[in-house]
Amino acid sequence: MRHIYDESAFDTTKPVGSWWLDSAGDAVDTTDLAGGENVRCEIAVIGAGYTGLSAAYHLARDHGADVRVLDAAYPGFGGSGRNGGFVGPGATKLSSDAMVRKVGMDETKRFMALQGESIDLVAALLDGENIDADKTGACEIEFAHKPNRVQELRQGAAYMRNTFGAKFEFMDKDECTAHGFAGPQVHGGLKIPGCFGVHPLKYARGLARAAQKRGVIIHGEAPVIGWHKEGGTHVLATPRGEVRAKQVIIGTNGYTAEDTNPGLAGRVLPGLSNILITRPLSAEEQAAQGWTTTDIIYDSRKLLHYVRLLPDGRFLFGGRGGWDASPAGKARMRIYMEKTFKQMFPAWAHVEFTHFWNGFICLTYDLVAHVGHPQGDETVWSALAYHGSGVAAATGTGRLAARLAAKAATLEKDVPVIMRDVPPRFPFPFLRTQYLRGAYAWYHIKDEWL
Ligand SMILES: Cc1cc2nc3c(=O)[nH]c(=O)nc-3n(C[C@H](O)[C@H](O)[C@H](O)COP(=O)(O)OP(=O)(O)OC[C@H]3O[C@@H](n4cnc5c(N)ncnc54)[C@H](O)[C@@H]3O)c2cc1C
Repeated sequence: MRHIYDESAFDTTKPVGSWWLDSAGDAVDTTDLAGGENVRCEIAVIGAGYTGLSAAYHLARDHGADVRVLDAAYPGFGGSGRNGGFVGPGATKLSSDAMVRKVGMDETKRFMALQGESIDLVAALLDGENIDADKTGACEIEFAHKPNRVQELRQGAAYMRNTFGAKFEFMDKDECTAHGFAGPQVHGGLKIPGCFGVHPLKYARGLARAAQKRGVIIHGEAPVIGWHKEGGTHVLATPRGEVRAKQVIIGTNGYTAEDTNPGLAGRVLPGLSNILITRPLSAEEQAAQGWTTTDIIYDSRKLLHYVRLLPDGRFLFGGRGGWDASPAGKARMRIYMEKTFKQMFPAWAHVEFTHFWNGFICLTYDLVAHVGHPQGDETVWSALAYHGSGVAAATGTGRLAARLAAKAATLEKDVPVIMRDVPPRFPFPFLRTQYLRGAYAWYHIKDEWL
């Protein structure tokens, strides 16, 4: 497979050394494709993250479809097993008013409604399938990391309330402290109710097992390395055998190789996100920093930091950014993250870190997630590019892809116009990592100096 970053970052033979992997319990039993002859199904799904698993689960549960999922590694190997566990609105980097300018008010509302339904869907799956994923918190909060960002948040809350009827609330600095989060970079907040945190790998594994219970077969260690059509049948080749299917759903997000499907080449841009975990903090240590809430919280930077107190007192410190996916680049990012952590949480400057890892999110040229037919083939669906916020969005988009593949929905009627079709191709796609470098340099100046 051909990627635009250091290939070591896509090594599916090495599990991700994350806190989630150390605390998720037993792995999901998958079915070995080796030795299987003439393996056929109605719908094959590439990628066992939230998109692929949700698509497979809903296809089997709601449409009685015969589905197989193929993952290069194991369920939750990609972003779905290594993210921050923030279940909130996502799937775009466009601001709401930019979206209104682009597709109008009604379509923006349709897009937002889908994001809201996706959050509810995660909650319903956890409850309905008895998935114990350590759910915490009751809202998501963005905090102003500089005094000059406070007014933006105040206006943002008013805009969302007045324009979309959203229950966003502005919080001043004292209200943030009373809510249980404080620090030298906390100057005010914007609260989005209805969001929560999860253990992302427990959720991914729970979804995988729920899909298996409905008859879905999941093949681990099954990277799709070849793909051709024989008549109307797709033939997906892996090193352990072939799978034949009438339709294919691609849910490979930031792990999409350039050569998985020519219809996606040059159309997605994987970007790095990084997570540092502390040892459990005692109640006294939490009080010393003034951080006691388990709500999910991020700052107002473009290259944002996302943070949350985990149920056992560990603190998760996430940070977007970085363009060097090599082991040396990862080591440099860890040093930068540790330094930033100490600036933001001075009372915890002495605290040891137990884990650090990173993974790929997925960006597009037009800054929004997409569902469409690569190469115009109506028997192939791609659903991807959640722009770093995909726990809920991938789950919801996976369900949408299931409905589309089952012909219970159509692209024209049921997919918000801004998400419709495959993502546009980047101009000069070979420059994608350079674009990212330029954007990150500019964001850094904006975040820290303006
Ligand atoms: C560090 C980090 C923190 C994040 N934090 C948050 C957060 O707090 N909240 C939030 O909403 N989002 C967050 N995200 C984003 C979120 O994790 C993703 O948007 C979401 O998991 C995407 O799910 P997916 O199923 O589309 O893709 P993934 O979970 O990335 O799964 C893609 C799968 O495809 C497989 N694959 C790829 N190519 C092939 C092939 N050729 N054959 C077979 N299998 C293949 C891979 O092995 C992988 O398992 C974060 C991401 C990262 C990396």
